[in-house]
Amino acid sequence: MTPHQDCLQCGRCCEKWGWGQKGVIEDLTPWILANRQDILKHVLIRFSDGKRCTGRNISKDDLPYIVRIDYWTDTNGRTITHCPFFWRAEDGKVYCKIHDAKPKVCIGFTPWNEGIRDYALNCPACRNNAP
Ligand code: SF4
Ligand code: SF4
Repeated sequence: MTPHQDCLQCGRCCEKWGWGQKGVIEDLTPWILANRQDILKHVLIRFSDGKRCTGRNISKDDLPYIVRIDYWTDTNGRTITHCPFFWRAEDGKVYCKIHDAKPKVCIGFTPWNEGIRDYALNCPACRNNAP
């Protein structure tokens, strides 16, 4: 059994993997219900008819027609290669500005688990590969 280890908030994983990720419909629903335009405006949505737009002002009625969700985009729908919610504080630690509402791909990222350990990431919270 892998012992629990806390993330040390170094930010390496968000810098390396925090963009260019695919989203799921389950992420969108709470953002729509809470009117999280601050998040939705950075989400790229593609519909079954080929149209694409940011998630700004989409509604629950649109959900059945969405075929792809990408993180992240600028407000004009251009893909960006960083996470807009990444914030490094004065204490050197990295904080997620949408921690309580972040996407499932971020919630599920636990590199200290053997199955998805990423040695190239050199996660300092991972046993056996701490710097
Ligand atoms: S690389 Fe590891 S310690 Fe650093 S923020 Fe990611 S999970 Fe946390
Ligand atoms: S949404 Fe938060 S946890 Fe996910 S990549 Fe951005 S800063 Fe990291």
